[in-house]
Amino acid sequence: MSEPQSFTIRTFGCQMNEHDSERLAGLLVADGLVPAAREEEADVIVFNTCTIRENADLKLYSALGQLKALKEQRPELRIAVGGCMAQKDRGTIMERANWVDVVFGTHNLAAAPSLLRRSLLEGPLVEVLDAPDPITSRDMAPALYAVRELPFAAWMTIQTGCDNTCAYCIVPSVRGGEISRPLEDLIAEATMLADAGVTEITVLGQNVNSYGRDITGRGPLFDQLLRALGDVSGLERVRFTSPHPKDLRPETIAAMAETPNVCNQLHLPLQSGSNRVLQAMRRGYRVERYVEKLEAARAAIPDLAVTTDLIVGFPGESDAEFDETLAVVAACEFDLAYTFIFSPREGTRAATMTEDFVGSDVIKARFERLKEVTDRSALRRHAARVGRLEEVLVEGPSRRNEAMLSGRTRQGKLIHFPVTDHPVRAGSLVTAEVTYGAPYYLLGELREVLRAPRHKIRVPLLATR
Ligand code: SF4
Repeated sequence: MSEPQSFTIRTFGCQMNEHDSERLAGLLVADGLVPAAREEEADVIVFNTCTIRENADLKLYSALGQLKALKEQRPELRIAVGGCMAQKDRGTIMERANWVDVVFGTHNLAAAPSLLRRSLLEGPLVEVLDAPDPITSRDMAPALYAVRELPFAAWMTIQTGCDNTCAYCIVPSVRGGEISRPLEDLIAEATMLADAGVTEITVLGQNVNSYGRDITGRGPLFDQLLRALGDVSGLERVRFTSPHPKDLRPETIAAMAETPNVCNQLHLPLQSGSNRVLQAMRRGYRVERYVEKLEAARAAIPDLAVTTDLIVGFPGESDAEFDETLAVVAACEFDLAYTFIFSPREGTRAATMTEDFVGSDVIKARFERLKEVTDRSALRRHAARVGRLEEVLVEGPSRRNEAMLSGRTRQGKLIHFPVTDHPVRAGSLVTAEVTYGAPYYLLGELREVLRAPRHKIRVPLLATR
């Protein structure tokens, strides 16, 4: 069989999966492959899977089903499945889709290229580790050579796994307990990225503010990490996701407030505004404590944008408990809320609470009411920004309108503004005056170009003087 020349990766799920995919793309490029323009033309097709989202397995097996005929026509085509579902289901994937060549887990991403090559000679291979490989998990090259959508913005995973036991979540049983990467590795990686022209890093973990607890055996090191990232030359913006409200400490709030390159943006997942539901979810905090921490963060960090996650229809959620959520959410005035309809994940405690499942019509009605409240807050907060000058990192042409450019403000808000005769490229830092606030984005006018892109890859001018 001939050696594969090209690849595509289809990613399901969260930012950690997106980041794994860009690192895997970097490994495949280092192995001599090039990205294919279309999936049907690729010699290697990788699915990076997720188990959290609704119908995750349906999505995967329907995508695999669509490839069965292609595989029959082109037996040399390599099909690989990695990520959380591969970690959880392992050999079952090949029992259900015997045209898959390679299954690899969340802990051995770096082994994927060699598994793909070996499968040409040895036939189907399943390799899933129960814990991270101590050598490849310290290997920084995949992060440096990751194939990024935006060459000036990078994700950096600081920990894997989670020590919590949220009743609806499959992550701890799939990805295991928290394992933090050494602080010196992270600073070295951030320095390498900044030297290569990356100006924005988003720190990733399931519970970032407990980062380092497994290293010290006592308190976390997250505030130290933020302060150390503040000293990385050339790194202009640091974001992080997701912190757990119960572990948000004053030290972290102080580090955010006192480290200039840490952005004024906080994602703090509330999930429910009812203490009984929070307890059933095993979230480990009460509403009052959540609100106290939110107020402390807003008091310490000027112009802080706060986003949240909310679950509607957790088993047993009554009308009155849902109304409590509405009231708390209205009082918190979030900049944005990601609202999810509860759906049971096999293997979780919540999936066994079948007698308490809330009817789908009730859930849908609650979802709409909650969205009205969260959209109203977002609209109010965005409308209040009209007339302000925002620092914007330009990402490229707007997907909505090609006469516009898009970028992110320091608060992480998406802003679109018309193309002008200013010399702007993707990666340029500019200021824009906000002219309109919608619930999910801002509109503005470009005022000044603060600096040109710093990344080494040359990108075309989006506009010239
Ligand atoms: S904190 Fe809870 S929801 Fe988040 S990954 Fe851990 S168990 Fe899942």
